[in-house]
Amino acid sequence: MDFELSHRQKQIRLAAREFAEGELMPIGKECEAKGEFPRDLIKKAAQLGFIGCFIKKEYGGLGLGLTEHAIILEEFWRAEPGLAQVLAQPAFGSDILLLYGTEEQKKKFLPPIAKGDWVMGFSITEPEAGSDAASVTTTAVKAGQEYIINGNKVMISNGTEAKFVLVFCLTGTEETPKSKRHSILLVETDRPGYKADRIQGKMGLHASDTANIFFNNVRVPEENLVGIEGNGFPQLIEFLNRSRVIIAAHAVGLSQGAMEQAVNYVKKRKQFGKTIASFQITQFKVAEMATLIETARELTYKACWYVDRGTPSPQLSSMAKWWASNVAVRVVDEALQLHGGYGYLDDYPIERYYRAAKLLELYEGTKEIQKLLIGRQILGVK
Ligand SMILES: Cc1cc2nc3c(=O)[nH]c(=O)nc-3n(C[C@H](O)[C@H](O)[C@H](O)COP(=O)(O)OP(=O)(O)OC[C@H]3O[C@@H](n4cnc5c(N)ncnc54)[C@H](O)[C@@H]3O)c2cc1C
Repeated sequence: MDFELSHRQKQIRLAAREFAEGELMPIGKECEAKGEFPRDLIKKAAQLGFIGCFIKKEYGGLGLGLTEHAIILEEFWRAEPGLAQVLAQPAFGSDILLLYGTEEQKKKFLPPIAKGDWVMGFSITEPEAGSDAASVTTTAVKAGQEYIINGNKVMISNGTEAKFVLVFCLTGTEETPKSKRHSILLVETDRPGYKADRIQGKMGLHASDTANIFFNNVRVPEENLVGIEGNGFPQLIEFLNRSRVIIAAHAVGLSQGAMEQAVNYVKKRKQFGKTIASFQITQFKVAEMATLIETARELTYKACWYVDRGTPSPQLSSMAKWWASNVAVRVVDEALQLHGGYGYLDDYPIERYYRAAKLLELYEGTKEIQKLLIGRQILGVK
């Protein structure tokens, strides 16, 4: 298999890098400190096609593949993880609309996302349902030609800022077979009964919006069902097989950025009359970082390639997500270590990378869940 990027993909990388270095790097520290959601930045990124670049042209996007999407986000995460997270989220979940939405849903909801006018969210996690997504208790009960939604979701990206959210919920009862109990509904956030509380106490990524959301008798028309009633779980899994690869790309970018910062630092910083770079242990650390990143990148692009050729590999997606996020946490730790005590201060960006990296091992399936999925597939056990 040839992982050489095409000419077009290399051009996309250059454009994304130019945007990230010009627009993200200079304001990253300030945005993290203020914790404000930078709407203007989303608009600017959208004007260049970077938001939801995989959305088909007829719905306002560029119609690019997962590989191109991964390249763009890898570059954003390399430059400034906090703002990269903001730019990764506006179209989070739109793959579900592309894959399963009706023509009306796609025409109405996707173009404003691609233009950067709206952002969306995808709400799965609940107070008692995290890794075990199938155990959600949010209900959508059919009443005539409407669904009435009740429940509570937690830690939802864009929960406060979103124009609409997709809701993974129960439409079946105890009697319904487990695999047919769930559905995905689209809820406009201005509907009566929708409430969102922004979470203030995050460890990092402060400019991004993460919220707890509440549905209190929220009524949506039956046209807001996304896909087939009762088919929500397989739809969710298909989405995760794609989105986990994108988290892997975030991790590759963050690792690359962290390593580059460490390399720059150790070439300048002198101790014992020599640069830190001249110590063999530093050379070993950099060699390990670079090799780990290379393995994570190869795995990520391989998983992208399987999705783009129409044969997503759940095992590769989980491998890429687990391995790349593990690499990110290890690389950023060594990169900060090479900064010495200065790495712990906000004079250098590395402390922001350090705080951001941990999330990559947590959301869209923790590292334990990824390993569980890989192991079960290999062993053929449930
Ligand atoms: C900043 C941020 C943004 C987020 N954005 C979203 C979003 O947009 N939408 C959304 O729906 N969710 C979102 N989440 C939630 C995230 O997806 C969940 O936190 C994640 O799925 C883990 O669920 P949990 O926190 O309930 O942990 P739990 O499931 O309670 O897990 C706790 C620990 O137990 C381990 N564990 C659980 N089950 C097993 C098992 N069977 N075997 C071995 N170990 C196990 C886990 O690996 C973990 O280490 C976000 C979270 C954060 C922090």
